[in-house]
Amino acid sequence: EAKQRGKGMWALYTDEMGMRINDEADLIREMSTAVDEGQFTLEYQPIVRLEDMEMTGVEALIRWHHPTRGRISPADFIPLAEKSGLIVPIGRWALGEACRQGAAWRQAHPQAEHLAIGVNVAGRQLRSGTFVDEVLKVLAETQLPVANLSIEVTETAVLGDQESTDAMLRLREMGVRLALDDFGTAASSLGLLLTCPVTTLKLDRSFVESIITVGRQAAVATAVSQMANALDLASVAEGIETEEQCRLLQELGYHYGQGYLFSRPVPPEVLAGRWAAVAEASHFPPPFERL
Ligand code: C2E
Ligand code: MG
Ligand code: MG
Ligand code: MG
Repeated sequence: EAKQRGKGMWALYTDEMGMRINDEADLIREMSTAVDEGQFTLEYQPIVRLEDMEMTGVEALIRWHHPTRGRISPADFIPLAEKSGLIVPIGRWALGEACRQGAAWRQAHPQAEHLAIGVNVAGRQLRSGTFVDEVLKVLAETQLPVANLSIEVTETAVLGDQESTDAMLRLREMGVRLALDDFGTAASSLGLLLTCPVTTLKLDRSFVESIITVGRQAAVATAVSQMANALDLASVAEGIETEEQCRLLQELGYHYGQGYLFSRPVPPEVLAGRWAAVAEASHFPPPFERL
């Protein structure tokens, strides 16, 4: 019903976050000035090559430090940002910040030379019509090589949408890596793999969570890994929390892993400190020295 009233009527949408509608409207208003007021930061979570436990990438994850409400989880405000359109300026900030950080790391630490910087991008951003140009501009401004950038999109964000597919094709031509995030959770995924020029599949955390105890989850994880290999895509397993899960995913042929077992998302200085302290600091030797 709210939808029929058209744009700008976001306050009438039903509540998805357990908040009252007025709270939602307040939050959106507050979110609209949060970039300018410097309330967002990025944390970075290591992505580890399972073959040798080398940290080959990081994923940038946004954090909102609200002046009165405290820390708000992206799971709570990203959906509202998407709904209101604010994801476009917020996402633009996140892309710029992550590329600036990646370039600074490369300058300061030889271990970061080939580090892949993963940036989450919402469907709405991808479809904005200016996204590819923004990426070009940010890479030029920050001097981050295109090979160091990896864009993460979800299946639902790109499903059956020509504009996003076109944007992704242009990004691929430029040499940007493209990861399909939360893979396996959307309604359909297989046809998408043929039309959508991704380089990487990220198996959703929900499959990893019960991979040891639920045979059906393990079966899906196996199929995704085999499919990635058959299509010549890289595979990442998200949400690895135990060594047992890690070992199994390794056996299933996953190339990369990400999860609390290796590290939680951390502020950028933590990674810099680690690289500065030890030459081999991007290595996660078993039993997985934690950050
Ligand atoms: P995502 O892109 O799938 O990111 C992975 C999420 O899983 C992160 O949650 C991360 O902290 C969490 N995670 C990683 N390893 C583990 C683990 O071992 N166990 C558990 N329980 N969780 C783990 P986070 O940081 O709360 O972000 C949630 C989602 O918010 C992200 O999911 C992404 O969809 C979205 N998001 C975050 N930053 C941005 C951004 O800059 N732009 C956009 N559009 N979306 C973002
Ligand atoms: Mg992601
Ligand atoms: Mg994910
Ligand atoms: Mg996820």
